[in-house]
Amino acid sequence: MPPKLAPFQAVIVPIWKSDEEKALVFEAARKIRAQLIAADIRVKTDEREGQSPGFKFNDWEMRGVPLRIEIGPKDVAKGSVVLARRDKPGKEGKSFVAQEGIAAAVQTALGDIQKALYERALAFRKANTFDPKNFEEFRAAVEKGFANSFYCGSARCEEQIKEATKATLRCIPLEQQGGTGACIFCGQAAKVRAIFARAY
Ligand SMILES: [Zn+2]
Repeated sequence: MPPKLAPFQAVIVPIWKSDEEKALVFEAARKIRAQLIAADIRVKTDEREGQSPGFKFNDWEMRGVPLRIEIGPKDVAKGSVVLARRDKPGKEGKSFVAQEGIAAAVQTALGDIQKALYERALAFRKANTFDPKNFEEFRAAVEKGFANSFYCGSARCEEQIKEATKATLRCIPLEQQGGTGACIFCGQAAKVRAIFARAY
């Protein structure tokens, strides 16, 4: 999930075996959580007993929490934690950061994740948006993705396009490319381009 939307932006997963380790790790996790909350980061600590760390990692990945903060006894000793990015699986997305001043490091990581997801979505949209020159090309375009076409604005054209191709009007972008052209369906003068696509 994009960090700006995620109900929990980060989850702290404490890792321990003995009661002694648990006390140490929970204490450190509590302090980290307090730093993050003070920085308005939406954070949850997974204190569940009887679930392995691996189970918890998977569980939060499945829910799409953007950032995982792992803390075990060795991390407590070193005064650091492991950050793991949900959008970059494996070692590539992992880094060690100091517990002191962790809020800034988490903010930076969340910003990077937000940007990476946005850029990925934008690239996907661009790669799947077509600019058909005529209605035959329009038919082919909506088989594959979005069609960005001049549209006269009439409800009748909209209906007939739907009948012919199953594609419906998705939106009329606020940012127009300018210029005028012929409606992709009826050929009449049109001032705006609209996005058509099939629902799926
Ligand atoms: Zn038309």
